Amino acid sequence: MEVVMFKAFLIKYGEIGVKGKNRYLFEDALVNQIKFALKEVEGEFAVTKVDGRIYVQAQSEFDYDETVDALKRVFGIIGICPMVQIEDNGFDDLAATVVEYFKQTYKNMNFTFKVNARRARKNYPLDSMQLNAELGHVLLEAFPELKVDVHKPDVLLQVEIRQQINIYSIEIPGPGGMPVGTNGKAMLLLSGGIDSPVAGYMIAKRGVKIDATYFHAPPYTSERAKQKVVDLAKLVARYSGPITLNVVDFTEIQLYIYDQCPHDELTIIMRRYMMKIAEELANRSDCQGLITGESIGQVASQTIKSMYCTNEVCTMPVFRPVIGFDKQEIVDLSEKIGTYETSIQPFEDCCTIFVAKHPVTKPNLNVIRKSELKLAEKIDDMVRKAIDTVEKIEIN
Ligand code: ATP
Ligand code: MG
Repeated sequence: MEVVMFKAFLIKYGEIGVKGKNRYLFEDALVNQIKFALKEVEGEFAVTKVDGRIYVQAQSEFDYDETVDALKRVFGIIGICPMVQIEDNGFDDLAATVVEYFKQTYKNMNFTFKVNARRARKNYPLDSMQLNAELGHVLLEAFPELKVDVHKPDVLLQVEIRQQINIYSIEIPGPGGMPVGTNGKAMLLLSGGIDSPVAGYMIAKRGVKIDATYFHAPPYTSERAKQKVVDLAKLVARYSGPITLNVVDFTEIQLYIYDQCPHDELTIIMRRYMMKIAEELANRSDCQGLITGESIGQVASQTIKSMYCTNEVCTMPVFRPVIGFDKQEIVDLSEKIGTYETSIQPFEDCCTIFVAKHPVTKPNLNVIRKSELKLAEKIDDMVRKAIDTVEKIEIN
């Protein structure tokens, strides 16, 4: 729906956890994230915080649908109200605008409504009760099919008399959550699969800024496989804001593990080194946690015992937001956030190339540690080298 009169949006956000000093942090982060999201939308916008409310105002021609879509990706927003804003040119002008607003917003007038006027400015000649009655009357005159229902109206028309006058009646749901930047930072282990982009989305939704690490194994994994991860990072960044993507060259470590360790333990040992390296990179970029797309029992490396073994190498908390989801639930979410189509592109994954036919599903930590002793000669240098040669790609 495109209403030519809409030039501004009132942004509604959750109040929970935004008391006192936190409120400023929350609102400032929300303003920043809105500005970031609107960068890719055609048009110029002013994003302002006035009297504890956030407004987005178009300063030029703009694409309404694109704007709404961008705002729907900003965590912390619970509602987006397209709004008509006018100067106060007297009641008749307001009444005419409200009639025009209804004409443009609603196709037929077979519904009930109620006017909810508020005066934030007490020098307006009519008080709220009078405004409700007068505007209701004007609307009924203009559209005789309308009916008033003061208890459960289909349409609640908000009229706010402030410095300017705000008129709105539609609230488009936002994604909820908290603005990115209000809850620290974590490192997402981002593969080319379905699960990890969803995991990154879910943690970012709680206000956590994210960076990402991808383990690349050239020439076993192609440039195209890496590009797919870059593409996924871009899609996640539409919600999370800018991401620094670390690309780790993992080939040497993988081959070394392959040569030295029992093949049924490869995946576990490899994953332990991934976690170790990711944790070091996380520390270096000021992250307080790791994020993976693991889900209990999905594959051999994700049984509880396997995760017990991989988790053991890190001291940082590891967040696994899809841990209790079925595959279909993760797929549904990835479709909703728009990562699915990219995730299912068929490119090789470093985990699948070196995977054994029958990986252990119940690894024993002592056995794994013992196998890793066979790596003692070179592994520390290799890990150091992998970290020192990491490629950083700025996604924004
Ligand atoms: P995904 O769909 O996220 O690839 P998956 O079902 O393929 O997950 P695994 O391959 O066992 O599961 O990986 C489990 C988790 O480990 C992934 O969700 C991701 O967080 C991390 N991971 C796996 N491979 C890589 C990689 N090459 N680079 C970075 N992280 C990885
Ligand atoms: Mg995978």
